[in-house]
Amino acid sequence: MLQTPVAMANSLQIDGEIEQIHQLLETVHAEQRVSSELMERLTVLRGAWRADRSSFTSEHVAFLQRARDIEQCVARFIVLLDFLPEIEEAEEASTIIEELNDLRRIVKGCAVEKRMAKEVRGLGERLPGLSVANGESVRLERQRRLERSAPTCSRGHAMEVRQNRQSGELFWGCSRFPFCMAPAREMSPRHQAFLDGEAADLDE
Ligand SMILES: [Zn+2]
Repeated sequence: MLQTPVAMANSLQIDGEIEQIHQLLETVHAEQRVSSELMERLTVLRGAWRADRSSFTSEHVAFLQRARDIEQCVARFIVLLDFLPEIEEAEEASTIIEELNDLRRIVKGCAVEKRMAKEVRGLGERLPGLSVANGESVRLERQRRLERSAPTCSRGHAMEVRQNRQSGELFWGCSRFPFCMAPAREMSPRHQAFLDGEAADLDE
């Protein structure tokens, strides 16, 4: 049973409780257990704080603030874990890797950090597959569809989607380039939006 706030409101008991939190953070990897035990112990300490603040040293307070940050961090990690199986795009994976690395900085030195590092590694391994499986192929599929109705150059050759390497701008270039030097054509904003994935379809 938990102690009542008044019963534990002395420095020694607070020291004991804080020592338990230290042990928990140092030794337990499992995020669910860290989260629930930490929440429980912090709730007890908050009760003690409300009952008698004078028993808390400034070191206690500093440690408890850090423990509260870690508690929030682990709770966020648990939320992110639910998202991981649903990630389909490389961009989503990169965003989550960044957030996980931010969380790791907050829990640095705690055992649960290893769990986060493991998820970051797992996502990193999935990343190349994700970008090929989605970003690239969607783009290529759209390009092929667009090229079915490609304009022709001034000499009558079919044109292809090209990209200016410096500016990234898309344009139509002759498929026989460099043997045909007919001028390139601008691509309509509608077609560009379609290729960039901003427009869902080519329909007028
Ligand atoms: Zn041509």
